[in-house]
Amino acid sequence: MIIIDGSKGEGGGQIFRSSLTLAMCLGKSVRIENIRAGRKKPGLLRQHLTCLKAAQAICAADVSGADLGSQEVIFIPGALKPGEYHFAVGSAGSTTLVFQTIFPALAMLDESSELLFEGGTHNGMAPSYDFIRECFLPRMQNLGYCVDVDIEAYGFYPAGGGRWRARIHPKQDAPVFDLLERGVVLSQSAVVTQAKIPAHVARRELACIGRDWPLAPEQQHLRFVESRGPGNILSLRLQMQNISEVFESIGERGVSAERVAQNAMIQVQQYLASEAPVGEYLADQLLIPMALSQGGCFRTTAKSEHLVTNIAVIRQLMDVDISIEKLGSADYLVSLAV
Ligand code: ATP
Repeated sequence: MIIIDGSKGEGGGQIFRSSLTLAMCLGKSVRIENIRAGRKKPGLLRQHLTCLKAAQAICAADVSGADLGSQEVIFIPGALKPGEYHFAVGSAGSTTLVFQTIFPALAMLDESSELLFEGGTHNGMAPSYDFIRECFLPRMQNLGYCVDVDIEAYGFYPAGGGRWRARIHPKQDAPVFDLLERGVVLSQSAVVTQAKIPAHVARRELACIGRDWPLAPEQQHLRFVESRGPGNILSLRLQMQNISEVFESIGERGVSAERVAQNAMIQVQQYLASEAPVGEYLADQLLIPMALSQGGCFRTTAKSEHLVTNIAVIRQLMDVDISIEKLGSADYLVSLAV
């Protein structure tokens, strides 16, 4: 039994999810203690509990501590099983984090699996469905993962009600991952996705972006969608030769459309001030899929706490050499040797 201390480093839900993923993929038993000790409301929230139940379902794990608020979980994985699964977070909690927890394990099997997720799809503190589709999955494809996704309903905070599907196919062989240069910019766009909020909010966000970042009309998109509750998210996208990056900002009550636009624009400007291809969020999300493949290397714009903490969890569960080398003020080389 490997003991993981959830209070270390960043001290959030990622330590818990990464431990589950590696436990399933490597067939190792884990006891995760002090879960989310670094957060105001420690222990398992609905999203984390759904991750645990999803992990349990796909590998018939023996589990203790599967309760809301639980700060200690024992997870003893059994045999992975492909199939059709339905996971509902039961709140606006992130369904994409549930997906990220289990897809590497299902991809190890010889048969495809079909997953249906219900809950939040576009929350501020997790990858949105669009980030998964446009930024994360193309890089997973480079690692040999084949996943198709479709969205049926958007789920914003706090009402949730999102619904999307993922088909996970057997992982293919792929060359060692190497993402050191962006390549030239092929296209750029701004997309506002919005439900049950006056149209002028979305238009003001795009107008504000247009002042700092000249975009042709065909590079600006307004998506008025159906959702259980109100929601607004601005997504700025850069498609380069070797990578697509997505920078998002969520509209909230009391936050002006202009502020939402500024928050997204600042992220783009910081990204463009560096030459590293991988943005801060994608960086910590690449580590586990790379460690479960042949390793490799990438350059990223930031050495975030999530990145450092995820490395520590991987090192505890796997025999991999991971290093971070500073190349410039917003430029770090991350190397994984498996
Ligand atoms: P908590 O922090 O409450 O424990 P949690 O379980 O939701 O919650 P974290 O441990 O903070 O989460 O992990 C959040 C994950 O979401 C990280 O992998 C991070 O890269 C990703 N993420 C956060 N914000 C964004 C964003 N705007 N775009 C893409 N990914 C994001």
